[in-house]
This record gives sequence, structure tokens and C-alpha cells, in this order.
Amino acid sequence: MSTEIRTRFAPSPTGFLHIGGVRTALYNYLFAEKHKGKFILRIEDTDRSRSESRYSRAIMEGLRWLGLDWSEGPFYQSERGQIYEKAIRKLSEEGKAYRCFCSPKELAARGREAESRGEPPGYDGRCRELSSSESGRLEKEGRGYAWRIRTPESGAISFDDIIKGNITVDAATIQDFVLVKSDGGPAYNFACAADDSDMRITHVIRGDDHISNTPKQLLIYRALGENPPRYAHLPQVHGTDGKRLSKRTGAASLDEFREEGYLPGALRNFLALLGWSTSDAQQIFAPDELKEKFDLSGVGRSPGVFDMEKLRWINGKYIRETSPAELARLAAPWLLRAGILKSPEDIPERIIEALALEKEKFSTLSEVPEKIGFLLRDDVAYDPKAVSKRLEKDGVIDILTDIQNLLRETEDFSRENLEDIFRSYVEKKQLGAGKVFHPVRVAVSGQMKGPGLFELLEFIGRDKSVERIGYALKEYVK
Ligand code: GLU
Repeated sequence: MSTEIRTRFAPSPTGFLHIGGVRTALYNYLFAEKHKGKFILRIEDTDRSRSESRYSRAIMEGLRWLGLDWSEGPFYQSERGQIYEKAIRKLSEEGKAYRCFCSPKELAARGREAESRGEPPGYDGRCRELSSSESGRLEKEGRGYAWRIRTPESGAISFDDIIKGNITVDAATIQDFVLVKSDGGPAYNFACAADDSDMRITHVIRGDDHISNTPKQLLIYRALGENPPRYAHLPQVHGTDGKRLSKRTGAASLDEFREEGYLPGALRNFLALLGWSTSDAQQIFAPDELKEKFDLSGVGRSPGVFDMEKLRWINGKYIRETSPAELARLAAPWLLRAGILKSPEDIPERIIEALALEKEKFSTLSEVPEKIGFLLRDDVAYDPKAVSKRLEKDGVIDILTDIQNLLRETEDFSRENLEDIFRSYVEKKQLGAGKVFHPVRVAVSGQMKGPGLFELLEFIGRDKSVERIGYALKEYVK
């Protein structure tokens, strides 16, 4: 039987989720889904002073919104003390970890001395060979202590990173590092490896800023007598300027993208492509296609490039694939804020129709009120530029009067019939289509932009169209 694939996302709740973190979560999720495995959520809240529950909540809400549902968890490291204690007990019994009674002050002073002698600073192994009776005596004296791992003095630590290839470090360069701090809390590498081991994680997929931690975590696995997982370290995400992400180039939190009106599916699609590609460079994926196609072998070694224009483009595509009714539901928060919608439970058909006409024109949901507002207002706001360009022109008075009369008599106000009426009028009068269409558009909507003229008229309806042309004739046409 093949082993179940188990991945995890292990955020520290010390801030909101940023794009790089979300991409890590997505890759872990997709990889687990692809292999019908498990995706585990572990909150790494061992740093009590910097961890906040509001961040954990926001992280989970963001993951849910993106549709990255975890199959196990959330597990909180702050509640897993027994796991770490058990592991330390085992390591200590087997002589693989020991108590270190050196205070931070002593360590710093000795580090400085070593440096002045031209030796590397860092832990000098002072407590490594303490006998158990010495250790017991110091403990009885009430001296605080940390637990350190006994690292090998020679040999190589090697792993075959799925993305970066073989990575080898000289074990001698890794000093006996702290597993449990003197306050009793586990250090990051220890909690992480002990948990990965306890949770039977098979693939650790994370940012390459963690690559230097991996040899230490491998040593912990080795000491625990467990087989380590495979590691895949993801290249960082850069802006289009090739630099680290800044606020301007996309270093916003997941919430900010949500508030800007990006659709979860579009964001998933975009994030998946931040460092991963299919062999045919596919750009747009159907809902379940990503989890079928994603594979770590498609993750490149160069940084993912965060291109805001591309995100807008992808989002626009997803918007166009969404039905107007669903779009109205998704855009409800923005429509409410703009006063266009009164209640999210009761979305008028007019709004859905307006969205059907205009949904080609926006890239984010936050643009919806501006794009459809003019269609829904009762009083037309005439754009002065449109008035001078389209209405204050010779001949407009006759054209608008004719069209007003024609429309008044039109029973069938469908876009198809309206088109026939306009085409035959243009032909009869031997006029360019634009000469007729442009002033009518401005007369009924006050704007130069908007949906096709016949769709626009059909949407506004006969009575209002006739009335508005009358108003424009009176107010603006000289
Ligand atoms: N808590 C670590 C972080 O947020 C996770 C490291 C890991 O995935 O092993 O960077």
C-alpha cells in the first residue's frame, strides 16, 4: 500500500496572511488534493509575546475564503506541550539531548571571548559533558536550563530538495542548538520537527527562507529515530521590478485582495502560477483543474513574479465566467456600500440585468458600483463633456426628435427590433450610424460609455427612453 500524502501549512499567527504565505498554503493544499492525501493546518504560536488569536482567526478565515479547507486541525503548538515533553524525555534518556545551564549572559560573554580569539562565536559545548550528578546538582540549586541537542561532530547532512536539488551541509558547522528554551517553551526547529514527525507529514512545502533550518530539523528527526519527510523549498515571490515585494508591488495581505474584489478562484489561479507552470504554460484553469494538474515538478527555481496586471486580467476572466446573478451576490457588499443595493438578501432583477450588460468591463468587484451605477439611477447625470461632444451639434435636434417619435411608437422594445429601427432610419436619412447612435446614447444615459446602444435602450425601456430624449432636447440641444 502506498503511504498517504500528508502536507501541512504552519503559519505563525504574528501577523496577517501575506501573498507568499498564501501561495505556500495553496501549494500544500493542491499537492495533497492531487494525491488524495491530507492537508493539515498547524498554528505555530509558540512565540507567546508575538502570537495573537486575532491573527489565527484571520488566517483561518482567509484560508476558508480561498477554499483551502484543511482536512485535519487546526492544531495549536501552544497546546501540544506533552508531545514536546515526551520527545525530550526520549532524547534525554538516549543521551541525544542534554540540559544546558548557561545563562544568556554567560553565553554572550563567552561568545565575545571566542570572537576576540578569532574563533566562531556561538555555543561552545560547555554543558555537553556534564555528568548526570552535576546536572542534578545544578538543577537542585534552582539554576534554569535549556535543552540542547547533541549534534554530530563530523559527517554530512544531506537532503534531496524536490525543487532545489541536493543540499549538503557539514554537520560540524551546526552547534548543539536549543530544543527547549529555559522558559520551558519549545524552540521553533524542535516544535516544527517534533510536530512534523508526530503528524506523519510526508512533504514539507515552504518558503526557501527556511532552507537553513532544514538540516537542524533533519538532525532532530535523526535523533528521534524517525524517517524525515521530503522537503520542497519554494523560491521567494518578487515584484515585476525583480525586488522583494513591497506594498506597492503586491505585498498586501490576503484581506486587502479580498476587499479589492478579487474572486477566490481567480486568486487561486493567479497564486498557483507564482512559481509553478504546466509544460504548455496554461494560464487559466477550470475550477477543479488546478488540483489535477498541479505538481511540484512544475515549480521552477527562479522567483515567482507578482504581476498585478496579470492578476487583474485573470480576475476579469473569472468575472466573465460568472453568471450575472452570482456576480450580483458577490458584489453585494460593494453595492450596499455605494447605496445601490438596500439589502443583500433582496437583489433586484434590475441589478442582475445591469451586470449582464456590463460584466465585460470590470476586473474587480470593487469597480462594479461605478460601472453599473449610472444604469440604475433614476435621475440621469449628464456628463458635460458628453453633452458638448454629442448633443451640442448641428443636426442633433432633428435626429433626436425623429428618434423620439419612432421610439414612442415602438411596441417591441427588444434589442433586435430596436436595431432594425435604427438601421432603417440611418439608411433612409443617408446618415453615418455614429451620427445617430452617439447623441441618442448621451440623451438617454448622460454618458459616452456603456453597453451597446440597443441593449442600453432595451434596459432603460420605452417610456424612460422617450422621456429622457425629451429632457435632453429641452435642456441641452441647441
Ligand atoms: N511557522 C513558520 C513560518 O510561518 C513555518 C515554517 C514551516 O513551514 O516549517 O514561517
